[in-house]
Amino acid sequence: NMLSDLTSVDLFADLTTALRGQKFVVDHDTLQEALHKNEFILYYQPQVNLLSGEIIGLEGLMRWHHPQSGIKLPEVFIPIAEETGLIDQLTEIAIAQGFNFIKKLNSMLSLSLNISARSIKDNHLVQVLNKYCQQFDIAPQRVVLELTETTTMKDPEKAQDILNHLRTKGFRLSIDDFGTGYSSMAQLAQLPFSELKIDKSFVTTMEHSPKSIKVIASTINLAESLGMATIAEGIENSIAAIGLRELGCHFGQGYYFARPMDQQATVQWLKSWGAP
Ligand code: C2E
Ligand code: MG
Ligand code: MG
Ligand code: MG
Repeated sequence: NMLSDLTSVDLFADLTTALRGQKFVVDHDTLQEALHKNEFILYYQPQVNLLSGEIIGLEGLMRWHHPQSGIKLPEVFIPIAEETGLIDQLTEIAIAQGFNFIKKLNSMLSLSLNISARSIKDNHLVQVLNKYCQQFDIAPQRVVLELTETTTMKDPEKAQDILNHLRTKGFRLSIDDFGTGYSSMAQLAQLPFSELKIDKSFVTTMEHSPKSIKVIASTINLAESLGMATIAEGIENSIAAIGLRELGCHFGQGYYFARPMDQQATVQWLKSWGAP
């Protein structure tokens, strides 16, 4: 009716004015400035053993604490950081903050970090990782590098060399978002991955979709036959947690256990969970 139409038009006008008032631009210069001002903070989401309930590790997920616009998610800044060549700086910040944190925690938890495809191009990443492993006295075996399937597509041989090198140094490699990218089974069998991460698009739908369950079940079988561990992301309720456990998935993470949290909240959460 007329009244509700008018109201929504008014609301829309208000909203666009408000948005224009604090226009939020993300480009090379704003990201560079934010890097200098230390506005990037690594958050942590716990990873749980679905059989025992034990915490096995934390995934680092980057957040931008923007002084005016609040907390920004990676979708807002990671693609631009990749395009503008700032992603390596952001990766180094994740490594430095993450290693510092797991050292402070004084536990044996592993740390998973998301690595952009752009960083698998030369020796830089392995040098940075080695540097911080020494600085914080972290064994590479505790560090899991999460890569998406597209990482190895542009220059497969170069990527394979770098991944083999990282693996030889002891770092663990995980395929993130498995099932959503483009990958050949041959590549999967050749590359030195130790973990396969089931994408949340299958996990959040498994409750209502027999097809998602079938995809998950065959992914777990595939990983098992290749000697890889499986971890599910996007576990939002106990039905998913129990279902995945019954399908033989080893590990999981998701809002059901905990959202990504800052350092202080993570410490509190680990205490209340009774982490080792
Ligand atoms: P990802 O590595 O696949 O991470 C999973 C995403 O799912 C995260 O989004 C996480 O907050 C979200 N999530 C966790 N539990 C649940 C759940 O139960 N339900 C649902 N619906 N979602 C859940 P986030 O933090 O926004 O990160 C998005 C993506 O940005 C990540 O996907 C990763 O690809 C990328 N990213 C995050 N941090 C970094 C970083 O430091 N470096 C790089 N290169 N990429 C990063
Ligand atoms: Mg990830
Ligand atoms: Mg993922
Ligand atoms: Mg994802």
